[in-house]
Amino acid sequence: MLTRLSILPIDNIFDLILALIDIVIVAFVIYRFMMLIKGTRAVQLLKGLAVLVVASFLSKMLGLQTIQWILEQVRLAIVVALPIVFQPELRRALEQLGRGKFFARPITFLGEEDMSRLINELVRAVQILVKNKDGALIVIERETGINDFIETGIKLDAVVSAEFLVNIFVPKTPLHDGAAIVRGDRVIAAGCFLPLTDSPYLSKQLGTRHRAALGITEVSDAVAVIVSEETGTVSVAEEGKLTRYLDEKNLRELLENLLMPRNVQTSGSFWHWRGK
Ligand code: ATP
Ligand code: MG
Repeated sequence: MLTRLSILPIDNIFDLILALIDIVIVAFVIYRFMMLIKGTRAVQLLKGLAVLVVASFLSKMLGLQTIQWILEQVRLAIVVALPIVFQPELRRALEQLGRGKFFARPITFLGEEDMSRLINELVRAVQILVKNKDGALIVIERETGINDFIETGIKLDAVVSAEFLVNIFVPKTPLHDGAAIVRGDRVIAAGCFLPLTDSPYLSKQLGTRHRAALGITEVSDAVAVIVSEETGTVSVAEEGKLTRYLDEKNLRELLENLLMPRNVQTSGSFWHWRGK
């Protein structure tokens, strides 16, 4: 039966099993890589690269010497430029590898009960902020340490409550400008300055508050909740992606999906469908 496979370098069942394992591993790594870059600017860059590879192949086949020469010169520049251009994605991938998250589930500090309380307070705060027409940006740290950004703000250490969060974002008060950061069940800083995403795909209606929310989720696995001052809409950013127009129920569901320990167990898994 195996002789039919003679076009492949396979002579026995072990080689066949090895080849299958090989294929599964490569498929898994490609899948994880695609999930990692989905919705980020790396997708466009990959498309650009694919065009160059096809152009180079065609010019070789057709013997177009000048184009071939130019593409050869460009190749060196690309090899040098790639790690620089892909720096955020590479950093995220390496961080995930380092945490073992590439294969396994992430851990959270809070148990189910505490996380449920935290989510309740967050959702309640957001409802009040929307009602008051106050803008807000609340970042919930997960596994990646975001001390660099915490240090740009004013250090606090208060158990999260809706009232406290609402108070932080009262306009013209010293802490309202910037992001509040939650670690575990505490607000540990406010008025933090976050990195802005340079994604060109963001709606023109969205300004720096939304760009900052996306920015922090590009360089870490944090989750950011945004209340728009201009429109009162509520959004959540995670992994460089923004989910907009959340009502109370959707916000609660999304936060539970992202933060509750029982859900986090499966959200990093290979088999879990990450529909968004
Ligand atoms: P909104 O819908 O609330 O108007 P927006 O996305 O349009 O939000 P802006 O109107 O530019 O954004 O909001 C400005 C506010 O965003 C600032 O007052 C500040 O609180 C916050 N902000 C801007 N840049 C940053 C940053 N780098 N890090 C954290 N917060 C920021
Ligand atoms: Mg604005």
